[in-house]
Amino acid sequence: MCGIIGYIGEKEAPEILINGLEKLEYRGYDSAGIAYCEHGKLMAVKAVGRIKELKKLTDGLHPDSTCGIGHTRWATHGKPTIANCHPHLSYGGKFAIVHNGIIENCRQLRLLCESRGISPVSDTDSELIAHLLEMYFEG
Ligand code: GLU
Repeated sequence: MCGIIGYIGEKEAPEILINGLEKLEYRGYDSAGIAYCEHGKLMAVKAVGRIKELKKLTDGLHPDSTCGIGHTRWATHGKPTIANCHPHLSYGGKFAIVHNGIIENCRQLRLLCESRGISPVSDTDSELIAHLLEMYFEG
């Protein structure tokens, strides 16, 4: 079962997000990731396996970011791969999302995205949320 954490405050986000994900490890997961903002740009760091693998990628990172989101994934749509790992970014990089659960009409939503020229990069249902947010945000 996945775990989700979000942080907004005054401290550097990545370390707080990773610590939060470690506290959620007991829930079980196959991969993990965080997203935060660096110089105004959304960044995602992801790893398959334990959170210590994610930690190896984030140790030493000191972005000017004081907000972010994190996720431990229990795959339902697509294998545990980096591409399928959360957080997912929208096609234009304006939104980053994490999601727990299943989107029942994901096939139709994928077709909707594709009909607007958006090509999802993962096999997940969740990624579509990010694209739809940006699509409707752009109007
Ligand atoms: N359905 C989503 C996926 O497969 C979310 C799984 C979860 O709840 O961790 O990526």
